[in-house]
Order: sequence, then C-alpha cells, then structure tokens
Amino acid sequence: MKYLDEYRDGAAARKLAAAIARAATRPWTIMEVCGGQTHTIVKYGIDRILPREIELVHGPGCPVCVTSLEMIDRAHAIAARPDVVFCSYGDMLRVPGSRGDLLALKARGSDVRIVYSPLDAVNLAAANPAKQVVFFAIGFETTAPANAMAVWQARKRRLANFSVLVSQVLVPPAMAAILRSPDNRVQGFLGPGHVCTVAGCTEYEPIANRFHVPIVVTGFEPVDLLEGVLRVVRQLEQGRADVENQYSRAVQTQGNAAARALIEDVFEVCDRNWRGIGPIPMSGYKLRAAYRDHDAETRFDVSYIKTQESSACISGAILKGLKKPHHCPAFGTDCTPQNPLGATMVSSEGACAAYYAHGRHRAPIVPLEGLSPAASNQDLSSPSARWKGP
Ligand code: SF4
Repeated sequence: MKYLDEYRDGAAARKLAAAIARAATRPWTIMEVCGGQTHTIVKYGIDRILPREIELVHGPGCPVCVTSLEMIDRAHAIAARPDVVFCSYGDMLRVPGSRGDLLALKARGSDVRIVYSPLDAVNLAAANPAKQVVFFAIGFETTAPANAMAVWQARKRRLANFSVLVSQVLVPPAMAAILRSPDNRVQGFLGPGHVCTVAGCTEYEPIANRFHVPIVVTGFEPVDLLEGVLRVVRQLEQGRADVENQYSRAVQTQGNAAARALIEDVFEVCDRNWRGIGPIPMSGYKLRAAYRDHDAETRFDVSYIKTQESSACISGAILKGLKKPHHCPAFGTDCTPQNPLGATMVSSEGACAAYYAHGRHRAPIVPLEGLSPAASNQDLSSPSARWKGP
C-alpha cells in the first residue's frame, strides 16, 4: 500500500477483522501502547468490530498523561518566577497539578509560552540574555532526540541562560512493569510505532522472551492496527512470543542511528516516577554530568517538591489496562475536557479524552451494525456487546 486512504479502506479493514475472527479460538487481552493508537481505535470503532474473544486495553503511551504530578508542580514553581520564560508544548499547559495548571499561571501574568520545538526555546534564550529560558522536556523516546539537540545546541552556543526540566520516560521498562504487576491482564502488545522509529525494535526482544508475550510494533492507521492485532492473535494461538514489525514503512530494526547517538551523548538512564503508575526503576532519562549545567531542576532547586496523587482519578488503572475510562464515576460528568480532573482527560492522546471526543460518554444515536439497540446502549467494551463475527 502506498497512500493514506488505503490504510483507512473499509473493505481491507473488514477482511482483516474476519481473519482475526477466524484466528481467535479463545479470549485474549491485547494492549496498544501508544495514545495515538488508542485514538485511532476509538475514532474508527476498531474495538467494536473485533470478535468477542479479543479485548483491547489502553496503555501508558501518552507522554502528557504519565508526566508525574510532582514534575508538573516543579514546572509550576519554576514558571512562577519573575526572571523565567517557561516554554512548553501546548498539551502540558492544561495538565492539572496540585497548584493548578500552567495556563492559569500564564493568565495571572507569568511568562509561559507554547513552542512547537525545543529549538524555538533555545533561540528565545539567545534573544533574551537577561532572562532564564526553561523548556519542559517531556515525552518518550520520540521527543528525546529534539530535546537532546536543544541542550547540545545551547552548550555549543554557550547559552548559560537556557535549561531544561527533564521528564523523559522510556517505553520498555513501563511494559515490563505492567507485565510484572500481580493483577496484570495483558497477554500481547501492539508496540509503539513512533517510539520505534527512533529506538528500533531490538530492546523489546528481552521482554517478549522473559514474559513470553508477543509484541508487534504497529502503525497508527486502522488497517495497521487490525493487522497488528491479527499478528498478535496468530502468535498467541500458536504459543509464540516474538517481536514483529508491522510498521516497516517507518521503523527499522535498529531505529535511527544518528538520533540514538545524540540521545546517548546528552542523556543517561535514571529512575522515573510515572503519573498514576508510580516509580519505575531505570525508566527515564536525565542529563549526563557534562550537560548538568542546563538542568533546570538543579538550577532552580525544585527537587524537594513531592506530591501525592488524588485517589479520585483512576487513570493509573486505565494506563495499566485494568480499567477503561467509562469505569470512572467522574467520566463525562465531573471530568470532561473542559474541566479535566486527571491527565488522561487533558491530553489529546489520553484514553479518557479519546473516549469523550468520540462520544462514548453518551449512548450512540444510531445502533451499531450487528448490535441490538439495547446492546449499543450498554458497556461497549464488554465482549457481550461486541460484533459477533463477519
Ligand atoms: S475520567 Fe477523569 S477522573 Fe476519571 S480516570 Fe479519566 S481523567 Fe481521571
């Protein structure tokens, strides 16, 4: 296939759904890791056309959702300083911390700016030598190269007034933590396609081997996701646990060598606290000693800030695949995109935001094909409410 609409072709999708139905002989629970994959699944109703044996659960691959509450509060403390220009991707500005969000801080007069690249923040630092310019460096392996490049450029240009608040996280340790959890339900993964364009596929092999789970690195279009599910189901049915690459048009086995070299130069692996999940050993990046002068956490002495999560939001259970957004009593009532209580409702990649954006907080107006109106009004994620076959 060559063109985008071919990856959204209904006939191709129905053919793959029929192949999944033929392949699945018993129940399997599969987690899609990325928030972008979750959005495609909910937007196109892919979970609704799967056979009753297959349940999709939504993983921790939304970078905004998993940025820890204490890191949001540290960002807030830095951004509130009068000498600071605080730069961030737009998604982070509405994430609620325990002291409100960055957008409210901006409304009260703090210099908080949305940038589209960390290099924009580097240029701001060059143009404003009397100000401290801080970039909120969040994200998975996907954003790490650009964030590393910003620090590398700042050092090369001798911009002592540029620093980064680093909250980089890594996918493989989170997948291993989910599989190690005593209440784990995940039996196979749709691996994170975009992350693997940078990091490659090889670091998933130890996870597949150790936990005996198939991992299929998968793209983001409907046909990609259905093909990924089919490949995982075939492996599960055959008792195999291999790493496969469905997204070969973008992902090479070794990833992007230049990007990996830059990351390796600027960052080193460290423990990280994940929002809703908690601390995961060796699951993030911090600046190497050679670049520590650009570390905002040290420069502004905010490491002392520690914050407890609210127990009302169940996003942690959602990010581990144990619950779905509509299991939360606040979903679509007290918690909406206009008034988000948790990070999975704020971010456009969050599972709660995806369910809300695509109408799953209310009953469908038109019954779904193959479902009775009564079933359409029920819990659409339950196997009994699903399409029964091709
Ligand atoms: S609906 Fe809101 S409160 Fe409930 S889990 Fe999602 S983000 Fe948290």
